Amino acid sequence: MLPRETNRVKKTAVIGSGFSGLSAACFLAKRGHKVTVLEKNATTGGRARAFGECGFTFDMGPSWYWMPDTFEHFFAQFNKRPEDFYQLVRLDPGFQMIFGKGDFLQVPASMDGIMELFESIEKGSATKLKKFLAEGKFKYETGMRELVYKPAFSWLEFANRKVISGAARFQLLSSMRRHVRDHFKNERLIALLEFPVLFLGATAKEIPALYSLMNYAALSLGTWYPAGGMTEIIKAMESVALSLNVSVVTGCEVNSIYVRDKSAVTLTTVKGVYTTDGVIATGDYHHTEQTLLEEANRNYPKSYWDKKTFAPSCLIFYVGVNKKIKKLIHHNLFFDTSLDHHASEIYTTPKWPTDPLFYVCCPSKTDSTVAPEGMENLFLLMPIAPGLEDTEAIREHYFQVMISRMELLCEESIMPDIIYKKSYCVNDFVSDYHAFKGNAYGLANTLRQTAVLKPKLRNKKVKNLFYAGHLTVPGPGVPPAIISGEIAATQLSKYLNDRR
Ligand SMILES: Cc1cc2nc3c(=O)[nH]c(=O)nc-3n(C[C@H](O)[C@H](O)[C@H](O)COP(=O)(O)OP(=O)(O)OC[C@H]3O[C@@H](n4cnc5c(N)ncnc54)[C@H](O)[C@@H]3O)c2cc1C
Repeated sequence: MLPRETNRVKKTAVIGSGFSGLSAACFLAKRGHKVTVLEKNATTGGRARAFGECGFTFDMGPSWYWMPDTFEHFFAQFNKRPEDFYQLVRLDPGFQMIFGKGDFLQVPASMDGIMELFESIEKGSATKLKKFLAEGKFKYETGMRELVYKPAFSWLEFANRKVISGAARFQLLSSMRRHVRDHFKNERLIALLEFPVLFLGATAKEIPALYSLMNYAALSLGTWYPAGGMTEIIKAMESVALSLNVSVVTGCEVNSIYVRDKSAVTLTTVKGVYTTDGVIATGDYHHTEQTLLEEANRNYPKSYWDKKTFAPSCLIFYVGVNKKIKKLIHHNLFFDTSLDHHASEIYTTPKWPTDPLFYVCCPSKTDSTVAPEGMENLFLLMPIAPGLEDTEAIREHYFQVMISRMELLCEESIMPDIIYKKSYCVNDFVSDYHAFKGNAYGLANTLRQTAVLKPKLRNKKVKNLFYAGHLTVPGPGVPPAIISGEIAATQLSKYLNDRR
């Protein structure tokens, strides 16, 4: 007698090996499915890849390790802990904001230190901060427990007693800007509390006050660094996947998803055809829909994407400097020009910024392995509107702008000691990740693009096709990408098991 077709192990495919793809692969394998990850680039990690050059190791994308509980949650489900793979260091100070020459605001790791700092800048603000962070804690903890791990197919998923009774405390209908300004008057404190929402891809004016949970994450849970760099998390997740017999195929671009009887049945790739019982697509959603699927099988038409608010793109420089730069610490925010003006040139009238803010990560301050002795590893990042014209001349102009500002504010020369430099911008995001308009951070977390209102995690026409990553729920950033992979894997697994 032939074995029952329905009881055989299901073959699943994950497109993409960023945080969401590796997470999805681990959870599918844990549930007993055979998993193949198909990645177009030569190495895994997606936006969080790393490269080495001239003795430096550069993380290409994320550099802020926030929400350590999310990483613990992920590894715990495979009976592991982050420290089984990498050593975590809590940064102290967590970061500094540079408002002018000699005008540096360093944010300490300890809550007592943060309270003292606030009080020294604005009298009475420490007590207000305590209340502000207590509200953020409620939003963070309730959000993580009741909201973030939902597939967001329907608002009904959120209709439980805890969510409904706490709804007003989520402050979905007031803006982050209003919320911060209701508590604090000093412009520096306001900048310090508003900057984390930049990760969410919109201004504090557009972001619901729900996201003061980011302040709780940044100030109370702390800023951490995995020794060796953010790529260590990717290596750790990949090793979990491999231990579960996931097969990872790099240099394997998927060119199309073939659908028969409302099911994805094969993936055509540059390395051949893969048959499958289910797919989780974690490459940029717009690319998967518009390029890999026939029109009849897409969730959304092209016009849908044109109406969406995308998070910014960015201009990045990876720089090796043959000396130490005294005034830099690990995370440095050059906030010596107007945030509102720069933001308006990203969101309101998109163009190359006239007077940009920028961020400099200097991991060699914490980690001697990422630069040769006596040298600095720099990552310069300037946020820009997605879809801008990207040329070598423009990149070089802003390199000069950023390095000159660093020299002025750090009060030392840098340019003559630069021994390595590489840029990365809109065109690279498009060619490396098929990113719509070269976006860096996915879709903005505005109220109209939250939860059920985000591009759906499930394809409505192809029953065994799910999406994960920073363009669907729960949103942009490393922790949400990992969560997204878990949700998509749970849903695909449920679908496959229901058919047994
Ligand atoms: C410069 C930068 C700085 C950031 N800083 C931070 C930070 O400090 N902290 C933080 O939390 N977040 C940060 N982020 C955001 C975070 O990095 C992302 O949200 C996260 O890495 C997204 O993971 P993902 O798996 O959704 O997508 P990706 O990492 O883009 O992975 C998708 C993968 O799919 C592959 N792919 C696409 N199409 C195909 C195809 N047709 N066939 C095969 N493979 C395909 C791509 O090559 C890619 O590897 C930053 C992002 C950038 C770009």
